[in-house]
Amino acid sequence: MTPEQFSNAVLDWYDSHGRKDLPWQLGITPYRVWVSEIMLQQTQVSTVLGYFDRFMEALPSVQALADAPEDEVLHLWTGLGYYTRARNLQKTAQRVVAEFGGEFPRDVDQLAELPGIGRSTAGAIASLSMGLRAPILDGNVKRVLARYVAQEGYPGEPKVAKQLWDVAERFTPQTRVNNYTQAMMDLGATLCTRSKPSCLLCPLQSGCKAHQLGRETAYPAPKPRKAIPQKRTLMPLLATRDGAILLYRRPSSGLWGGLWSLPELDDLDALAPLASQHALSLGERRALPGLTHTFSHFQLAIEPWLVQVAGSAPAVAEGDWLWYNLATPPRLGLAAPVKKLLKRAADVLNAGEMS
Ligand code: SF4
Repeated sequence: MTPEQFSNAVLDWYDSHGRKDLPWQLGITPYRVWVSEIMLQQTQVSTVLGYFDRFMEALPSVQALADAPEDEVLHLWTGLGYYTRARNLQKTAQRVVAEFGGEFPRDVDQLAELPGIGRSTAGAIASLSMGLRAPILDGNVKRVLARYVAQEGYPGEPKVAKQLWDVAERFTPQTRVNNYTQAMMDLGATLCTRSKPSCLLCPLQSGCKAHQLGRETAYPAPKPRKAIPQKRTLMPLLATRDGAILLYRRPSSGLWGGLWSLPELDDLDALAPLASQHALSLGERRALPGLTHTFSHFQLAIEPWLVQVAGSAPAVAEGDWLWYNLATPPRLGLAAPVKKLLKRAADVLNAGEMS
């Protein structure tokens, strides 16, 4: 689709399906549009409906908002959350009064510099209430455009954001920009939804790349996960001839708190001190296949060693140490990877693979 075909398709859809009776679409002023845009930033339309009228009734103008006690503004905002929005709202009203004589500037860059108004909100105020040709790129519009052009990359990255702004700029029409802006927001909110876009009803379907690829929900790309740090540890499974493995109970707070686990060592050199601590003499040893366990904030690579020790194990626990009999396992809380490793050790020992 050419940019003209694109905006015409969006405007035709708006004429038959767009929302036209929301309170801030009636008696449009920059003040009303601005307040509604800020309220809608993190909140659903259905929730904002009740708040908007109450807010307008109490503070019907920029001047009234600028002069109101902060408590009054916060009171009117109570329940909407994200109270920084309300404080910024009042700061902006005070600046509009002090610096622009109570009238919002008819300039997107100046609007975007006011507290709490970014480039997209500035574009919405300029296009919806002043009819200025200014693109917007709020969350809904970003989703529609990212899908339409199958934009690769996470839009939070400046390079990707710039590419999407360029797309928004290219498709924004010269006329009826107010209706176009409203339509794009509505399209994103009602048809091109996050998880189940209704492509069959969408006026952009014939040109939409994501739809052609059958990969609508792959765009926009989600925030890349940070690589999580890797740690490694050596876990010895000290095994007696009668098939008991030495475990210890982890401290009640922290990872695997209160669960029974295997000792953790830096390397094989630390085996001898561990053995002498428990009056054991070390015998044959062999590496078991490694395991990786993922915690919320790091990944643990476990290097398990099955090590035979001489002597028989006492049947009872000594402090935080315990001989875990593989043939008659006691009922204990075990860390998940430890449970797996005990099973592997049992398989090796039962198969008689160690002398
Ligand atoms: S065709 Fe589907 S994915 Fe593409 S813009 Fe329309 S609703 Fe969104």
